[in-house]
Amino acid sequence: AKRRGRDTWQAFNPALAQQLSDRLVLETQLRRALEQDEFHLVYQPQVDLADGSLLQVEALLRWNNRLLGPMRPDLFIPVAETTGDIVRIGAWVIDEACRQLTAWRAQGLSLRRVAVNVSYRQFLNEDFEQHVLGALRRYGLDGDSLELEITERVLLEDDGDVVDTLQHLKSQGVAISIDDFGEGYSSLGYLKRLPIDALKIGHHFMREVPASATDAVICRSIIQIAHSLGLTVVGEGVEHDAQRRFLLEHGADLAQGYLFARPLPASELAAYRPPGETA
Ligand code: C2E
Ligand code: CA
Ligand code: CA
Repeated sequence: AKRRGRDTWQAFNPALAQQLSDRLVLETQLRRALEQDEFHLVYQPQVDLADGSLLQVEALLRWNNRLLGPMRPDLFIPVAETTGDIVRIGAWVIDEACRQLTAWRAQGLSLRRVAVNVSYRQFLNEDFEQHVLGALRRYGLDGDSLELEITERVLLEDDGDVVDTLQHLKSQGVAISIDDFGEGYSSLGYLKRLPIDALKIGHHFMREVPASATDAVICRSIIQIAHSLGLTVVGEGVEHDAQRRFLLEHGADLAQGYLFARPLPASELAAYRPPGETA
């Protein structure tokens, strides 16, 4: 645990002590989670809005700890970012996603690519590019079998290294998308400078579409900006048919959400069928 400034230590505070010890348990368990084999990935379909067909999947990390039980990524990923464990964990995610894609293809499932989430701390690590290229090589995959979902937080760094890394990965065919576009530290400038393939519209803007006029305008604008720059648009968190129709009507390309499928264990993904279609 870190010191949080002098005042916090003045008196014994049982609630604070509990928080610090919870945090310590979490950090300790997280540090050993890889060796203990406690992680696995689930995969959520990203479908073609035109016909609901499965184009690609997003890999999402799951952690089931023997003491703490199943933990949500929203809770443990920020901790792993602070401790630096995200670098090793993230490298495992990329390797595992590539391994699974190869296995699916060997079973005859045709998937364009697998998308993985990359934390800014992981991206900025000097070994990141080697982790990506190493995994591709290990499984004999072309770069365009992999998509990296980065956040606007990475682009905030906007230094030469970030641009170099993106351009080098791009030259290997790796696809790059911006997750939760517009929710962070947006600057439209980087869209022009950096080799990006897709923008993802996150839950934040999708949730109340089409009922909220403001959110509808924001979504339409994102779709327009993306398309005028030649980028693909993915709508996320699509739970209702009205959201799907809205995206389709305004020309978005892909959609992802509970309406189509929840994140699925690898073994169940092959059974995915577009809603309304029988196997
Ligand atoms: P994200 O990348 O924006 O992922 C989408 C989240 O929305 C996932 O939550 C997914 O399960 C959830 N979701 C999908 N469809 C729907 C829907 O229709 N409605 C609603 N309400 N939610 C939906 P999850 O799996 O809990 O992941 C949360 C976040 O944790 C992710 O947000 C991502 O930022 C992070 N994360 C997950 N796996 C990884 C990973 O391997 N590495 C890193 N760095 N971050 C990860
Ligand atoms: Ca994502
Ligand atoms: Ca997202």
